Amino acid sequence: MADKFDLIVIGAGPGGYVTAIRAAQLGLKTACVEKWQDSKGGVAHGGTCLNVGCIPSKALLEASHKFVEARDDFDDLGIATGDVKMDVGKMMARKDKIVKNLTGGISGLFKANGVTAINGTGKVIGEKQVEVTDFDGKTSTHEADNIVVAAGSVPVEIPPTPLTEGLIVDSTGALEFDETPGRLGVIGAGVIGLELGSVWNRLGSEVTVLEAMDDFLPMVDGAIAKDTQKLLKKQGLDIRLGAKVTGSEVKGQEVVVKYADADGEKEITFDKLIVCVGRKPYTQGVIADGVNVDLDERGFVTVDDQCRTSVPGVYAIGDCVRGPMLAHKASEEGMMVADIIAGQKAEVNYDAIPSVIYTFPEVAWVGMTEQDAKEQGIEVSTGAFPFAANGRAMANNATEGSAKVIADAETDRILGLHIVGQHAGEMIAQGVIAMEFGSSAEDLALTCYAHPTMSESIHEAALAVDGHAIHMANRKKRK
Ligand code: FAD
Ligand code: NAD
Repeated sequence: MADKFDLIVIGAGPGGYVTAIRAAQLGLKTACVEKWQDSKGGVAHGGTCLNVGCIPSKALLEASHKFVEARDDFDDLGIATGDVKMDVGKMMARKDKIVKNLTGGISGLFKANGVTAINGTGKVIGEKQVEVTDFDGKTSTHEADNIVVAAGSVPVEIPPTPLTEGLIVDSTGALEFDETPGRLGVIGAGVIGLELGSVWNRLGSEVTVLEAMDDFLPMVDGAIAKDTQKLLKKQGLDIRLGAKVTGSEVKGQEVVVKYADADGEKEITFDKLIVCVGRKPYTQGVIADGVNVDLDERGFVTVDDQCRTSVPGVYAIGDCVRGPMLAHKASEEGMMVADIIAGQKAEVNYDAIPSVIYTFPEVAWVGMTEQDAKEQGIEVSTGAFPFAANGRAMANNATEGSAKVIADAETDRILGLHIVGQHAGEMIAQGVIAMEFGSSAEDLALTCYAHPTMSESIHEAALAVDGHAIHMANRKKRK
């Protein structure tokens, strides 16, 4: 038997590594087991987020957006650039360097905070026991009073489009193309489809997105989703809703996809196809038979509001449990669990977890949509303000989109904030903070915003809830 710990965390993604660091800071003797290996066979901390998710995708989104600005927009600003070209190899090398820096950084943070990093595959073999198989196949058993399972998720595959090396790929494959595909198919108009579809569309691919559902971004407020769809279409994304993929065939270096929509059966040929139809919890082999940690019918570890599983002392967090599959949600759960294990009171406010789609412009939201409120029978007052009427947006050459505040009609308490516009992902924190503090729309309306800023549109949207927006003809009469 090796060392005994207060806590062993399985998985070092944004859920697991944050749990481990927080727990060590609170004085718990903590270890974190990770099995992800880099190309040289060493451990790569950071999980999906740092290795093949949030960070590499944003590196490509930023590079491709700057390319489009230089190619299409600089002339308007009086900047002559000549012929703008993208070196895909260089863009990818920059992305890989950022990933390496960040994943290496986690190992440094573990050392600095006194977390014991254990490299290998962890398995819960008892209430207080974790077995680890290291990279050479050697096993060891470690004891801990508490265990946190933070094993993450993997992409869903669908039978009509089996992954085929270099041709039919998942999100990881789409972060590694060595040249811009001519005709790119994307299955799923969700977050990954729109972000990675945007990257390659900006670099010149002809992108067709096949989405099974009839609604576009149903989790986003209807008005904002409609604006977003229009803006992405204008950029050249061909988004086909109600398109159910029924099969595919690889013919040489091409992929022929069959799908059915309201008009009948169709076929379309691509040079590459990205399958991004969701992710599923990864719990395979993490919990030994005989350990009674319950899973639900979709394979998620069943947990209560404070991430306790059915076995005392065993917790689960992040993508492998219910709730949105987001890095910051995983980290919040990790902080909460570490605090609870250290004897503190803690909770996560699941109503105030923001979401961002990093297209251009960005789409960001927190809390209820107007359609959610209607379904739940809550009467709301809303206020919206377009960036087209915002001075900073004009100066920034970013007048597309709007901000919308949703407030309870009776109490004026803010129930949601929805934005499509440049920097929406940065601005959404205002809505999160407002909701965390139980603010009313009037509280935001009475807050002083710096001028000129994009955020003034949120101020104006809050003023518009009561019909008081300054830089817009108000629909409602001032009370
Ligand atoms: P993961 O990050 O998946 O980490 C789990 C870790 O556990 C992995 O390192 C895995 O190797 C390890 N593990 C599993 N089993 C074992 C075992 N038995 N032993 C040892 N280790 C094990 N979210 C955002 O919030 N913002 C974004 O912009 C964003 N962009 C994304 C872009 C893409 C392309 C993808 C695919 C995802 C993106 N996500 C984004 C989602 C985000 O990556 C996940 O929600 C987040 O990584 C979940 O964190 P986690 O710690 O629960 O799991
Ligand atoms: P998603 O759930 O966001 O979207 C999947 C889409 O595919 C849905 O619109 C769904 O209707 C569609 N779909 C499902 N089956 C289909 C089929 N057979 N044919 C056509 N369409 C089909 O999933 P995703 O885009 O794969 O992303 C996975 C997870 O990763 C998301 O839950 C998200 O939270 C996370 N993520 C977050 C970010 C971010 O925060 N910016 C970025 C990327 C990924």
